[in-house]
Amino acid sequence: MDIPKIIIAIDGYSSTGKSTFAQRVAEELGYIHLDSGALYRAVSLYGLRNGMISAEKGIDAPALVAALPTLDITLRPKVFIGEEDVSSAIRSMEVSSVVSPVSAIAEVREYVDSLLHRYGDRGGVVMDGRDIGSQVFPNAQLKIFMEADAEVRAMRRYRENIANGITSSFEDVLANLLARDAADSSRKVSPLRRAEDAILLDNTDMTMDDQMVWLKKLLSEKYGFEFETV
Ligand code: C5P
Repeated sequence: MDIPKIIIAIDGYSSTGKSTFAQRVAEELGYIHLDSGALYRAVSLYGLRNGMISAEKGIDAPALVAALPTLDITLRPKVFIGEEDVSSAIRSMEVSSVVSPVSAIAEVREYVDSLLHRYGDRGGVVMDGRDIGSQVFPNAQLKIFMEADAEVRAMRRYRENIANGITSSFEDVLANLLARDAADSSRKVSPLRRAEDAILLDNTDMTMDDQMVWLKKLLSEKYGFEFETV
């Protein structure tokens, strides 16, 4: 198997399965997976825990920005704050409901982008998020933009929440993902948009195996990757 070490950027709407797909791609290629949304969620969790974000007062952006240089967030590949694995805690509805405005703060984006470059510059990475192909790694060799019907996406996230012991109604999950899509697409800083050279993957009716077949075909036909089986 001949596997070049390129940068693969996967962007798209909330709950299109970007991270799960990116994770599978990384396993298949022996790449590192970087989930940029997890980093925004970790910053949000830190703010919630340390009084910079609350339901009553909203986001104290200057305080959160002031804390960024001291923040010790790492991807190993699970997400850690200091020595604590926060991979489950960052998936709570509380975090989901504040992460979009947190990610609209320019300094927070700079912080996350610098982490992504630290991990990703050497290649052999698959990164997922909203602005990876358009903003963070505009020179990524392969850019994929993922879409799926909103109801299908909400059902997937709802089932994932149940599996992770997170209590939420289907309606709340759907409302949250539509609100995040709207906020992410309309913000001034690095809005969610499909890069001109990104290839569309609509996985509404696709299983994970279908998506892997699609990807391997693409990598071998367009990028010369050699797989034992495609
Ligand atoms: O991917 P996930 O849904 O976990 O991302 C959480 C939030 O982080 C998104 O709704 C979006 O507001 C923000 N995000 C972003 N840019 C990225 C990745 C995520 O603004 N590259």
